[in-house]
Order: sequence, then C-alpha cells, then structure tokens
Amino acid sequence: MKTRREFLAATGGLALIPLISRPVIAAEKLPLDDPAAKALKYVEDASQASGRIDKMGVAGADQLCSNCRFYTAPNDEWGPCILFQNRLVAGKGWCTGWVPSA
Ligand code: SF4
Repeated sequence: MKTRREFLAATGGLALIPLISRPVIAAEKLPLDDPAAKALKYVEDASQASGRIDKMGVAGADQLCSNCRFYTAPNDEWGPCILFQNRLVAGKGWCTGWVPSA
C-alpha cells in the first residue's frame, strides 16, 4: 500500500492535466445592447454608423474596427477589441473609440 505522500507524488502530474488541457473558450461577440457598446455607438457595419467624423487625419468613411488600434485580430472578419475586454467586434464595425492603428 502506498503512503499518501507516495500517492500524491505519483499522481500529482496527472492532476495538472485538466488545467493544462482545458479547452480555449471562444470569446463572445460584443452584444449591441451592451451598455458600453451603446455608449460608444458601436455598430457591426460602419456604413450604418452616425457620427463618423475625420479623426487624426483619417476620413470617417475609412474608419473600421479592422484598422483600429484596439482591434487585435489577424483577419478582418471578427476579432477581439481591447476597449471591450477582448470581446469580438466586427472587422467592418466601428465605434467612437476608434483610433488609427500604429
Ligand atoms: S475601439 Fe476600435 S476595434 Fe474596438 S469597437 Fe471601437 S472601432 Fe472597433
């Protein structure tokens, strides 16, 4: 019979497997009725936005989530936005927090 110490030593590595192999939970899309999204007038289609004014030398019509500094996705479809706690925003979306990517 194994002692408790021997048992823990023998199985300790197994106990970590669930933590290491935990599946990555996909980020959720930013709901349009989210209070922060509403406050910043977020829309999933920038062409539907009102109030896109020229900002930092970029015409309002050229401002999209996909060219915003806070958009961290490798593609233009959907990606995490730092401003909204990394919830997914549409690459062709927009909000008043837009700033040009560096
Ligand atoms: S901060 Fe930028 S990436 Fe985030 S929702 Fe607004 S425009 Fe899109």
